[in-house]
Amino acid sequence: MKYFGAHVSASGGVENAPVNARAIGAGAFALFTKNQRQWVAAPLSDASIAAFKQKCAEFGFSPRQILPHDSYLINLGHPESAGLEKSRTAFLDEMSRCEQLGLDRLNFHPGSHLGQISVEQCLDRVAESINLALDRTHGVTAVIENTAGQGSNVGFAFEHLAYIIDKVEDKSRVGICIDTCHAFAAGYDLRTREACDRTFAKLERTVGFQYLRGMHLNDAMKPLASRVDRHRSLGEGELGIEVFRYVATDPRFDDLPLILETPDEALWPAEIVRLYEMAQVPAPGK
Ligand SMILES: [Zn+2]
Ligand SMILES: [Zn+2]
Repeated sequence: MKYFGAHVSASGGVENAPVNARAIGAGAFALFTKNQRQWVAAPLSDASIAAFKQKCAEFGFSPRQILPHDSYLINLGHPESAGLEKSRTAFLDEMSRCEQLGLDRLNFHPGSHLGQISVEQCLDRVAESINLALDRTHGVTAVIENTAGQGSNVGFAFEHLAYIIDKVEDKSRVGICIDTCHAFAAGYDLRTREACDRTFAKLERTVGFQYLRGMHLNDAMKPLASRVDRHRSLGEGELGIEVFRYVATDPRFDDLPLILETPDEALWPAEIVRLYEMAQVPAPGK
């Protein structure tokens, strides 16, 4: 089955995310389980947790259709011990929130070396951060997102993802999410069917599709290898529509949350309909 959706608002409580996803005709969704621009948040209330689970059941969202995203403040590869500790504490809280909500994966950007340590040292820290979080939680997979390679962000090369996974002790609870805009910005061409074949063959060789736990479907504002993380609506950027048709029709992307993070929310219902049409499967509720 194909599950298309978008990163919807959880404003007013996590239980609003499945409602917002349903309202745009989504069969999958992403959400922040706390304010993504603040370090600390109040714990999830029992009422909020129960309402979230009830709404997900009512609208038919199972955990494999939901891809929570962690806070942008967290840097699991932070070069300084204070920043690293703060990030690890916040990440553990995010993993615990997912566990409380009955969710099975948490999507995050690996980290940034901030020009103070090497890429390898940064990746080592990220892997150790994941090991620490997995030791203290149950049932939630840490899903590493590829990045555009903007600034000092690591994780733009598929080799970085493989390097981290190699150092994670529990391979059953580590995964990856590929963002099409980020991959393109990092230099992986996805503009044609042949380019998609090559890029995803590279992903298979380097990391392996068995680790894929979700996709972010975004067109790109800037050209190939720009290292700039700027999303565009589907078909309106440098990537074009072919990669989205590719993901919609290739069974390697079945049964995963396939999430839009495109900038114009008003277009999400139409983008979702278009993706389901390309996949030739009925949209939810149709
Ligand atoms: Zn992200
Ligand atoms: Zn993304």
